[in-house]
Amino acid sequence: MITSNRILKIVIFPVIFFFFYSGFLHAQQAKYIFYFISDGMGMTHVAVTEAFLASQKNEIGFERLSFTKFPTTGFANNNALNRLITCSAAAGTALSTGQKTTINTIGMNGTRDQNLYSIASIVKREGYKVGIISNVSINHATPSVFYAHQPSRNNYYEIGLDLISSNYDFFGGGGFYQATGKDKDKPDLYQLAKQAGYHIVRGVDQLNNLKRNDNRVIAISNFLTKAASQDFVIDQNRNDIPLSLLIDKAIELLDNDKGFFIMAEEGNHDWAAHANDGATAIWNIIGLSDAVERALEFYKEHPNETLIIVTADHETGGITLGWSGKNYETDLLLLIHQKVSFSKFAHLLDSTLKIPENQNYELILKLINEYFGLGGEGELALSDYENKLLSDAWKCWKGELQISDMEKQLNYGNENPIAVTATRILNHKAGLGWTTWAHTGTPVPVFAIGQGHEMFNGYYHITDIPKKIKMAMGLDK
Ligand SMILES: [Zn+2]
Repeated sequence: MITSNRILKIVIFPVIFFFFYSGFLHAQQAKYIFYFISDGMGMTHVAVTEAFLASQKNEIGFERLSFTKFPTTGFANNNALNRLITCSAAAGTALSTGQKTTINTIGMNGTRDQNLYSIASIVKREGYKVGIISNVSINHATPSVFYAHQPSRNNYYEIGLDLISSNYDFFGGGGFYQATGKDKDKPDLYQLAKQAGYHIVRGVDQLNNLKRNDNRVIAISNFLTKAASQDFVIDQNRNDIPLSLLIDKAIELLDNDKGFFIMAEEGNHDWAAHANDGATAIWNIIGLSDAVERALEFYKEHPNETLIIVTADHETGGITLGWSGKNYETDLLLLIHQKVSFSKFAHLLDSTLKIPENQNYELILKLINEYFGLGGEGELALSDYENKLLSDAWKCWKGELQISDMEKQLNYGNENPIAVTATRILNHKAGLGWTTWAHTGTPVPVFAIGQGHEMFNGYYHITDIPKKIKMAMGLDK
């Protein structure tokens, strides 16, 4: 005879256990993902920013950024299939699909005959909402690896078409680079996006007016550079949309019970590092830290269901904390004297110097003093050595100084000789050394908090990062 006690043991307990356990398992999965990729941000970029923040408080040390307080830190190598030092396209494809590919390839395998599918496209298919944010153009390498499949990162127009057909819910930050194609002879990508049902909003006010149910949005800054990117943080004004506001708005628009996936790229940092401009790079990392802070606020409301990752595709510039001209000394606080980015200063020089009467060295020194604080007395006084560097740069700009291509490459890269020399002198005075205008092959840091964060401990390849995210989401089967 079956007693009620036995029924309880045989039927009811397992049922209760099953529901409890499956509910428990469910609660163990991340359904809100924030994937921050800071282009070009090696560990030293992070440490330099923290040391700069500490110096503002007259302290020797490192003032923690929002994401360096995360419980988990890992390190990742990032080589491409065919080159040790990677590029944003190959590294981005690794970060989005978990597969190594060749240099300049977007979302395809190394031989460029097969598409690779990003974690964003997979979660979109599963019913999650997807937002892709970047402060450089939205069809640039890092954002594009999450929605496009193109044999070359330079196929900006085709990447834009892939964006429109992705059907993702939110794009924010920079605009379309080459919106009408390389030769300006193709249908405008903004028009095509509108026809496909995307709502295009420009600037902070229009972005703020968006309502919770507005979907399929492309939100771009009012002002975009020639590269369709946002200005550097150091050059921004109230018309620019800070990364933190884009995160806030993406959360508001994408929040739903199924979950969301937000990839946000701090892309301008990389360009600052390519120009070896420490102050500009630092201010953009501070902007990134603010944006991560917004994701953290969301995490605090949904700690068991949110995962935040902050990482990079590669290091740029080979920056280090210490420069041979200063031995063991640093003076990072000097960087507050820089008022504009290398790029804005180069534009300012171009517009000033195109007037022949302005082409005198005294005016150059005056501008350098105004925008970098260099010159005069005290710690920012120019030494004979630094004066010679500047006057050589001036002569080089005028075409009066003949130097070899190698010397030109070592001294100025592809930058305006005067702007880059002023920037470099200030960096050296602060105690920052740089080794290259390009990327380096050094590992990148990975910071994680939230559901599944422990998986990001250790030393691995960046291709493991999206695999770990999938595991945290329970989508690895
Ligand atoms: Zn990059």
